Amino acid sequence: MKDYKEYFWQNILPHVQKPTRYLGNEVNAVVKDHKECSMKMVLAFPDMYEIGMSHLGLKILYHIINQNEQWLAERVFMPDTDLEDRLRQESFPLCSLETVTPLSSFDLVGFTLQYELSYATILHMLELGGIPKLAAARTDADPLVAGGGPGAFNPEPLADFFDFFVIGDAEEALPQVLLALEEKILSRQDKLKRISEIQGVYVPAFYQAEYGEDGSYSGTHPAVDNLPGQVQRAVISDLNAAPYPTDFIVPYGGIVHDRLVLELFRGCTRGCRFCQAGIIYRPVRERTPSKLRELAGEMVRSTGYDELALSSLSSGDYSAIEQLVTELGQELAQEGVSLSLPSLRLDSFSGELAEQVQRVRKSGLTFAPEAGTQRLRDVINKNISEEDLLNAVTDAFQSGWTGVKLYFMIGLPTETDEDLLGIADLAQKVVQAYRQAGKKGKPRVTVSASVFVPKAHTPFQWEGQISRQEMLRRQDLLRNALRGKGVQFQWHGAETSLVEAALARGGRDLVPVIDRAAELGSKLDGWDEHFSFARWESAFADNGLDLATYAAKSYALEEPLPWDHIDSGVTKKFLKRELERALAGEVTKDCRENCLGCGMTLLMDSEESKGACNHAFMD
Ligand code: SF4
Repeated sequence: MKDYKEYFWQNILPHVQKPTRYLGNEVNAVVKDHKECSMKMVLAFPDMYEIGMSHLGLKILYHIINQNEQWLAERVFMPDTDLEDRLRQESFPLCSLETVTPLSSFDLVGFTLQYELSYATILHMLELGGIPKLAAARTDADPLVAGGGPGAFNPEPLADFFDFFVIGDAEEALPQVLLALEEKILSRQDKLKRISEIQGVYVPAFYQAEYGEDGSYSGTHPAVDNLPGQVQRAVISDLNAAPYPTDFIVPYGGIVHDRLVLELFRGCTRGCRFCQAGIIYRPVRERTPSKLRELAGEMVRSTGYDELALSSLSSGDYSAIEQLVTELGQELAQEGVSLSLPSLRLDSFSGELAEQVQRVRKSGLTFAPEAGTQRLRDVINKNISEEDLLNAVTDAFQSGWTGVKLYFMIGLPTETDEDLLGIADLAQKVVQAYRQAGKKGKPRVTVSASVFVPKAHTPFQWEGQISRQEMLRRQDLLRNALRGKGVQFQWHGAETSLVEAALARGGRDLVPVIDRAAELGSKLDGWDEHFSFARWESAFADNGLDLATYAAKSYALEEPLPWDHIDSGVTKKFLKRELERALAGEVTKDCRENCLGCGMTLLMDSEESKGACNHAFMD
């Protein structure tokens, strides 16, 4: 092990740009002796250091595993091209950052599946790390390869590459997995059998995708005895008691979100119909203000950071947000630490809150109306009005903000040109609100438009994506409508969203497609300079599939879906009802006040996750 480290530092590291990405000895990095540990896991993020190090889930798992003296967790990210080339030239394996240990020497390699565009990168990391890419080709000497995160809720396109997936809250399931795997004498197969009994663990080799005589997909079912037809997601019932990292690793170089992040609560009750996170992280579970203040104090002391972001799917919905921001803001200000609130919904943004946040930090303000007309906002259940938006931006402008960024989606179900023109109208009204707030000069108003990607486990999971041609037409329409309105326009790629849409709702038939895409050179697809649409189109075509058709595929309501055997806790019946309401333009209220019977209570009342959903809110 020592030899790898010496060789890497002396012969490889001096030849790469940005070596700080690969040093692994940052403040708070945990280095343990491999010989002293019974379980060795490497947490792998299939993107570069700057992206992976900004991911909260990775920090949480790193902390939880390393808390146990008998276990160790290290990190690995996809190297940039210069290091990758060098590794290949020197036949040197991809190694963990902390101890420069090859991935193949760990017991467990756990990939974060945060976005579909990272899937091909996983295969490169396995290959560079000396691990067979197909689970079936691995022997008892190879590590188990696991995946977790939102992508695990439709694991089928990756099924053959992974030994198992952790569905849901890994804080809950992963320690149980490590405990079960400690017994080294077990064969690979026996290990998988043992962990498949843990709530939230899905072993794809134990399930089989089945097809009817006409070749149509008929469902994925257990292929071995005593396994459930549906794998229930792992749910942590008491977030307040769950371990949370206060000793964030402090990187040398700039990463995307270089600051402390404090998770206020998990879950969201708003019910936006396009939003997968709003379903798969249910129910809302809050940390108490006293716990949050305690954590914040420890985080600042152990890292020296000067910014702390309060993070959640919709931070303004935290039951005690104003109290927390006031108290925490004052405490942190004394230490020269600023507080930011990156995810505020329009209707929870108040002048008072704006003042509080601004007092300590005046960073960019972003709001997400998502759609340009009330009709379409009702379809997607984004329960905010034009008045909410204008009140929020007026409050913000009066409190001294001079810029605002507005996020929208193009291609939402039922969208018409009128909805797109509505975006331009709204943006213009925001510009006018600046003057009406008595401000001189021009505000910085940016409209950012991405393309709607239908996701598994949402009410829109049955809907196909609009075609590439239609995306470009709608983009042009919006760009022209915004011209001369004093608004900046940012557009996110049509082609990347097509690949995302195909992978997000794909089945096991996409395994060879991802394999082929990686073979053709696809990797780091989230980066413009690396992404090639042509490669993905070829990978589909080489397997007799058409990427555009796959992305545009709509499912019939009664048709089996490739992810039906994964139980998010929210029932299909609820999702269908929400789709019907969407198409009828009916809104569904926030379920904080009245439970809407989405199904979560059933999962939360299961033996492993006691506690009813509504009781999970803070008193
Ligand atoms: S069970 Fe009821 S309260 Fe809980 S998330 Fe579902 S709808 Fe909301």
